[in-house]
Amino acid sequence: MIEVILGDITKITADAIVNAANTSLLGGGGVDGAIHKAGGPDILEECIAIRNRQGGCKVGEAVITTGGELPAKFVIHTVGPVWNGGKKNEDILLANAYINSLKIAADNGVKTLAFPNISTGVYRFPKDRAAVIAVHTVREFLNEFGEIDKVTFVCFDTENFELYQALLAG
Ligand code: ADP
Repeated sequence: MIEVILGDITKITADAIVNAANTSLLGGGGVDGAIHKAGGPDILEECIAIRNRQGGCKVGEAVITTGGELPAKFVIHTVGPVWNGGKKNEDILLANAYINSLKIAADNGVKTLAFPNISTGVYRFPKDRAAVIAVHTVREFLNEFGEIDKVTFVCFDTENFELYQALLAG
């Protein structure tokens, strides 16, 4: 099933929450900063280990760490595209960020997963366009593979919340 809520993803109890990270995996502002702040230093330590091993995370890909002190067991760090007008493959890269997060979640036995609205903050992806991609991509994955029971879209602003509510009702 898919649900949408308005709230702070760091407060969510789920097997995993997704972080809208950047390619360095070293933390940043927005939801990334909030997750590292609430989750404590273990998350960053694992991110640094991954970075040392494979050189960060490419746009559209995903890696997994502990949830540290968060209620969630794991954090899946994915990197959405920076919006550049729509001719730089942004739609596909955003879909890939959702797909690769879902795949790594399923590979790690995650049954309940929460997503923020990837790329719609500092990366300036148009919210309506991002919401269509997010809902479509997650719906397809859940229909195709049965491993994940519940995906929650955690919106931080009412504009995104209303967009997701309308898409999920339709
Ligand atoms: P990006 O660089 O991918 O755009 P941002 O963190 O700037 O990442 O924004 C992604 C989305 O996360 C935005 O919609 C922003 O409002 C939202 N956001 C920021 N803080 C939180 C939070 N604590 N919980 C859930 N969503 C958040």
